[in-house]
Amino acid sequence: MCSTSPIWHAPGPGEAEGPKGRVTVIGAGVAGLVAAYELERLDYRVRVLEGNTRIGGRVHTHRFGPDPGAPSVELGAMRIPAHHRRTLKYIEHLRLGENVREFRTLLSDENAFLHTAEGFVRIRDASGPLHRGFRRELARERHPASYDDATVAFGAWLTAVVGAIAPPDLRDALRADLRRQLLDLVARIDPFPYPTGAAGGRVDLHALFAAHPGIRAGCSGRLNSFLDDILTETSPALLRIEGGMDQLPRRLAERLRGPVSCGRTVVGIAVREHDVLVRSKAAGHTVVEPSDFVVCTVPFPALRRMRLTGLDADKLAVLREVDYCPATKVAFHCREPFWQADGIAGGASFTGGSIRQTYYPPVDGGPGRGAALLASYTIGRDAGRLGRMSPRRRHRLVLEELSAVHPELLRPGMVLDAVSTAWGHTPWTVGCAMRWGKDAAEVERERTRAARPVHRLFFAGEHTSTTPAWIEGAVESALRAVEEIDGYAPIRRPAAALGIHDPAGAC
Ligand SMILES: Cc1cc2nc3c(=O)[nH]c(=O)nc-3n(C[C@H](O)[C@H](O)[C@H](O)COP(=O)(O)OP(=O)(O)OC[C@H]3O[C@@H](n4cnc5c(N)ncnc54)[C@H](O)[C@@H]3O)c2cc1C
Repeated sequence: MCSTSPIWHAPGPGEAEGPKGRVTVIGAGVAGLVAAYELERLDYRVRVLEGNTRIGGRVHTHRFGPDPGAPSVELGAMRIPAHHRRTLKYIEHLRLGENVREFRTLLSDENAFLHTAEGFVRIRDASGPLHRGFRRELARERHPASYDDATVAFGAWLTAVVGAIAPPDLRDALRADLRRQLLDLVARIDPFPYPTGAAGGRVDLHALFAAHPGIRAGCSGRLNSFLDDILTETSPALLRIEGGMDQLPRRLAERLRGPVSCGRTVVGIAVREHDVLVRSKAAGHTVVEPSDFVVCTVPFPALRRMRLTGLDADKLAVLREVDYCPATKVAFHCREPFWQADGIAGGASFTGGSIRQTYYPPVDGGPGRGAALLASYTIGRDAGRLGRMSPRRRHRLVLEELSAVHPELLRPGMVLDAVSTAWGHTPWTVGCAMRWGKDAAEVERERTRAARPVHRLFFAGEHTSTTPAWIEGAVESALRAVEEIDGYAPIRRPAAALGIHDPAGAC
């Protein structure tokens, strides 16, 4: 699936020369692989250059053991919202549809834990502490209105969800926005028929927003863009791929005719009038090769490290302007799924502190193989702090904090292994593009500038899509780039020979 071939492969017997032109795709994440797959279907000759030693990019399934049945954990993308049609279409197309299962998320298991001002409580018991905490917050800021219990329940639960999901730098601003903008709108809803949860006192936020779309219209862009994602992340309609999300990029790569060269880092791109030069490095060798078209899917912080020529000032500016939000995940391989004995069948806890969210993945491996626990999932400054630590220190800190909720972790031999990825600190990305906190027009302006091609250099990747930080965005962007290339005016083949080795070239 991953070859080390540095140059265009010669067409095999019966393989077309690629009459529509040669395309280099930079990056073997979902965007790059979907683009490569669709371009080959349109009769382009395609090769993919990937800097990392594995494909998949931010889709990364870690297996605690060498065989496919070993307990696994998702260190990158882990769930697919049921309304992400393009992603699900590829899953079906690649014959992964029968592996699609429900993904149990935050708030889905009443026995999971939630961190409140009164300490850790089970979600089923959380309404009391959350309502009291929320009333105290309103009193502290001398909020002028007094609200009925239903409105307080809404504010208390939404505040808890914001606290669990939002990065720290946005948390307080969003909580203030929701008190200022949302409570009065919600207080006007009568009757208020959305209580949920075994012990009541909890509001079904999805049902409420779905039945009253007007509430969202009264919110600022900052709050609205964030509400989209928190409603998605806590939605009951989330899916996963049993056996690992990495089956999606692997199946795509298996279907490609052209090479996917791993361990080949692109270090320069030169846009010329009739072609694009790509300079890449592997095992100390540098190669400069021309392509009729290039699709660049690498996140902008990685692109900024390349030597770029032929890009206009606005394009260079937007490479610096897109904000990225770091994310860190820490997972343990446990001797047994001890949380099940504690009544937790799946879903997640809001653990707060440095660790924020803890997920209890399904125990897919056979008996006696142990179970994977996604001990901590953080974003923003929380992720940056954990990311800067050595893995050893990071794992110890997560173990210490999480054992306050799950003391079973301290039993001798319970934690067999630990693994983590600090996405803000890898050479290939610094997290995901983040457009929270910007209004809709600003978001669209930035996206259009990020996606705009420069002659024959095209851009894809979640950061160039309308659904950033989701696989859906990677797929959407790839399809758009393919359409742009295929709609490009007829090409004139570059005169330069292919596979030129390190000339004193332009990139
Ligand atoms: C922790 C985390 C959790 C997430 N959770 C979800 C989720 O639950 N559901 C969901 O839908 N999405 C989720 N996402 C987002 C999703 O993973 C991404 O939106 C998507 O995978 C991005 O795909 P991409 O192809 O745009 O980028 P990438 O996957 O980053 O692909 C870019 C590729 O370019 C390569 N590259 C970089 N620099 C170079 C270079 N110089 N030369 C050659 N190659 C290079 C990289 O190694 C990488 O393989 C999550 C992301 C993270 C980090």
